[in-house]
Amino acid sequence: MDIVVLVKQVPEIALIKVDEAANKVELPQGPGTVNPFDEYAVEEALRLKEKHGGKCIVMSVGTERTESALRNCLALGVDDAYLLSDEAFAGSDPQAIAKILAAGLKKLGSYDLILAGKQAIDSDSAQVPGAVAAHLDIPQAMFVKKIESIDGNKAVVDRTTEDGYDVVEVTLPAVLSVVKEINEPRLPSLKGKMAAKKKQITTWTAADLGLDTGSIGANSGTKTVKVAPPPERPKGEIIEGETPEEIADKLFTKLREKQII
Ligand SMILES: Cc1cc2nc3c(=O)[nH]c(=O)nc-3n(C[C@H](O)[C@H](O)[C@H](O)COP(=O)(O)OP(=O)(O)OC[C@H]3O[C@@H](n4cnc5c(N)ncnc54)[C@H](O)[C@@H]3O)c2cc1C
Repeated sequence: MDIVVLVKQVPEIALIKVDEAANKVELPQGPGTVNPFDEYAVEEALRLKEKHGGKCIVMSVGTERTESALRNCLALGVDDAYLLSDEAFAGSDPQAIAKILAAGLKKLGSYDLILAGKQAIDSDSAQVPGAVAAHLDIPQAMFVKKIESIDGNKAVVDRTTEDGYDVVEVTLPAVLSVVKEINEPRLPSLKGKMAAKKKQITTWTAADLGLDTGSIGANSGTKTVKVAPPPERPKGEIIEGETPEEIADKLFTKLREKQII
């Protein structure tokens, strides 16, 4: 079974700054990291490959810098990596990213399953996996916490809902986005890291993909008009008292006054 994992390179989240005056997000320099949810998708693909055989492939829309994220995946045992990269992709919104990925998957030709993370931790739109399925006109199941079984061209998966989970059967090929409950990702071995350094990463441009750039990159359908950090949280209050009982009494009175209890 051939599995493609959609992997996004994201910046170190703690280093991101919002510049409200300039209306932009300042991204830190450096190689960044594999989107954490995508690590679970890669792990699941490797486990399915170990069970059913076949190939495990990663694909990303990014820049040259994204190669390091792809090499991290190769170090874990992924067979092949594809980077979809072109200046015309800069400024793409999530729908445009999905269009580019769908074109990459079409060029790849055959696959049995596409796995993705439930969302990217930087842009958080959680749109890309579903939109990829729509562009390819194949089934999708989002927020999958367990792949129960794969038999022929049918997969049975548990998808998380607010109240619990649904058990869903999907016809393959399909797109599944995964949540972190699905597994515990492995760490790369030193041998894997060394091998990954020598592996070839295939790069495809807009021309290679035969993509019409009229609705991607700067021509995307959405434009970010404002970027703002969350409002600062008000400082808390420390309740003073001689004894724990006195402090508890004061706290109780305050909560009563505010009608919280
Ligand atoms: C108007 C606009 C302009 C933008 N301009 C830029 C820009 O210039 N540069 C820039 O870096 N970002 C830009 N972004 C953000 C960028 O479009 C999103 O980060 C990207 O489209 C994915 O959306 P998301 O991060 O919310 O992904 P989600 O939908 O939250 O991601 C879910 C899953 O989809 C897969 N996935 C998501 N993105 C990729 C990817 N690139 N490659 C492979 N798999 C992926 C991963 O498996 C991921 O876990 C822009 C967004 C908007 C709205």
